[in-house]
Amino acid sequence: LVSRAFHPQSSIIEVCGVRIGEGCPPVVAAGPCAVEGKEQIIKTALAVKAAGAVMLRGGAFKPRTGPHTFQGLREEGLKLLAAAGKESGLPIVTEVMSPENVSVVAEYADLLQVGARNMQNFDLLRELGRIRKPVLLKRGMSATIEEFLAAAEYILAEGNPNVILCERGIRTFETATRNTLDLSVVPLIKEMSHLPIMVDPSHATGKRTLVSPMAKAALVAGAHGVLVEVHPEPEKALSDGPQSLTFQGFDKLMEEIVKLRQFLGFAG
Ligand code: PEP
Ligand code: MN
Repeated sequence: LVSRAFHPQSSIIEVCGVRIGEGCPPVVAAGPCAVEGKEQIIKTALAVKAAGAVMLRGGAFKPRTGPHTFQGLREEGLKLLAAAGKESGLPIVTEVMSPENVSVVAEYADLLQVGARNMQNFDLLRELGRIRKPVLLKRGMSATIEEFLAAAEYILAEGNPNVILCERGIRTFETATRNTLDLSVVPLIKEMSHLPIMVDPSHATGKRTLVSPMAKAALVAGAHGVLVEVHPEPEKALSDGPQSLTFQGFDKLMEEIVKLRQFLGFAG
């Protein structure tokens, strides 16, 4: 179902009126790694919206490596995200970690994210296949393209065709960056599948200074959008501060993306 051979026409996925896919101007979704509080998420929502983002990201259920770190505000975080979405007019994208939480996350989110660590959580994928809201499926950190597409297949097979893929870097021998951004998957996925493909340069690099160059590279490679972490005070962030852009850094990236969109032949 995910293959181009089966479905030659590129799929456009709509998230609250925002169209994502081939032929559409590439989109920018931005926001903090995690929702930390009301002021933080509303401030960020308004700042990224003013800069030109069309979607707000923020984790409420956080898949942290260790159990003693901040795990997210859970349902309280979803409510704050929804409030920030309303205040800014931006649709929201947030992670769902377990099949039991799909219904509660779907109540608040406009786009439901499956994190890299859950790419092969098959019960979660099946449950997401039973709803109609769009799903942002991140590539597992050691998943092959075939495994990545097979994971998307689980969602489509249950009846939900609204899937956007997201490359977020893979594990390699390199330790200078958090992950290694595998940009060639962008044109490759486009050959193999009709589903849209976005790139997350924040988790792919783990390093603030690398986020803008890799976001731009992703768009030149043909990505249908990027997902960028932005925090009002990255040094105080409860998670992923080192890879989060400041408001100023994000403004600068958006100015460059506007020019890049024109260069790529998109009006806005
Ligand atoms: C995230 O987007 O906050 C996240 C945890 O990403 P990933 O699953 O790609 O690590
Ligand atoms: Mn993060």
